[in-house]
Amino acid sequence: RRFAVDRVVAHRWTEPFARERDRRVAASLSTNLSTHCAVPFDLFEGETLLPPGSLRSGSGGPYAVFTPFARAHRAEYSGTAPLPAPSRLPPLPSDIEPNETSLPSLAELGLNENPALQRGGEKRARERLSRFVDERLASYADERDRLDHDGTSRLSADLKFGTLSVRTVWHRVASQPPSAGRAKFLDELLWREFAHSTLWDRPELLERPFRAAFEGFPWRDDEVAWRAWSEGRTGYPVVDAAARQLLAEGFVHNRARMIAASFLTKHLLIHYRRGEAHYLEFLTDGDWAQNDMGWQWSAGCGVDAQPYFRVFHPVTQGQKFDPEGVYVRRWVPELTRLPTRYIHAPWTAPAAVLEGAGVRLGHDYPEPIVDHAEARAEFLATAARHLRGQGVPEQD
Ligand code: FAD
Repeated sequence: RRFAVDRVVAHRWTEPFARERDRRVAASLSTNLSTHCAVPFDLFEGETLLPPGSLRSGSGGPYAVFTPFARAHRAEYSGTAPLPAPSRLPPLPSDIEPNETSLPSLAELGLNENPALQRGGEKRARERLSRFVDERLASYADERDRLDHDGTSRLSADLKFGTLSVRTVWHRVASQPPSAGRAKFLDELLWREFAHSTLWDRPELLERPFRAAFEGFPWRDDEVAWRAWSEGRTGYPVVDAAARQLLAEGFVHNRARMIAASFLTKHLLIHYRRGEAHYLEFLTDGDWAQNDMGWQWSAGCGVDAQPYFRVFHPVTQGQKFDPEGVYVRRWVPELTRLPTRYIHAPWTAPAAVLEGAGVRLGHDYPEPIVDHAEARAEFLATAARHLRGQGVPEQD
């Protein structure tokens, strides 16, 4: 009333808390009816390429499988260039005093700067996008899974916070010459769309698994195992590297996220929601929609998830995606001198090799917290028993 506001505009946001915020703002703007000045509240798109929840499957409901969702998305989204930013904004009404307050510094907020964090902001984000398109896009399909290479865009936090619009990224990449890298990268942006659309249609997924049969799954409370996993002391180097990268950089490579999440849920039988909350606390790109989809995918209970009976082998995953052990040596420096053939399974190294590398298992680096084959068998038996009890056929 004081400023004679006749319209409020804002950006729509998928996360349930933001939807509740918008609902309250809209309600308070429209319940000023006693003063006869209901103010329109206009939400604009931009978080995703298409408004979440706008694509519907043949049966009229939300998609539960990625491939048909992506097909429908490609048919619907025009991919036109985003409008340029306005060169100037209209002036404020003359009777409004701009309230210019500088942003508080980290020190004023009581925070220490972490120099390992990737720098944020629009300028850096645009530089990152240009560098990725010029140097890595063409090889993205082959390189994106390599833990030891910088094969991905590192744009996730920019997309999360909108310092770079997903439409800008899409348009820039889609206008490059066709390549396997281009197709794969655009697919990943569609996974992002799928995650946001799924959370929009099914906000209850933040509380429960997509596959109802996983409700009541006998997850374990095992503080020792939890601490080992979250601090990077499981004795499986690639799992530990992922945990330590998270704590140091607020980022984890996608392949390492999948390996670590699989290990927590399937080898240690710890609830995926605990891992999900931990990731959200430390990731700089932490996003409810994508993080929840990633965790439920890894646990085998999500939308279009990895089947529960596929259990990643933490040693062979390491050997395949970090063949020289570069990623492990970076984050688990106590194994630096171990020869490459043992780097993903230090307990298999002969005593003399361990000694030569300065590694005393159980002192400098832990023995494996679980035996892979035993843990896998135990998870499969537990899951099969639970799912049978829910009336789910074997291997479904
Ligand atoms: P690129 O490979 O360059 O991909 C480009 C963009 O596509 C990413 O920035 C991201 O926005 C999107 N994207 C890529 N992979 C996926 C995917 N699998 N699902 C959805 N979108 C994807 N991503 C987040 O942004 N925030 C999260 O909190 C998050 N949590 C995850 C948790 C788990 C357990 C798993 C398995 C995955 C999670 N992801 C999350 C997805 C993925 O790991 C990251 O988006 C990716 O590693 C970010 O690196 P990048 O920007 O270099 O990716």
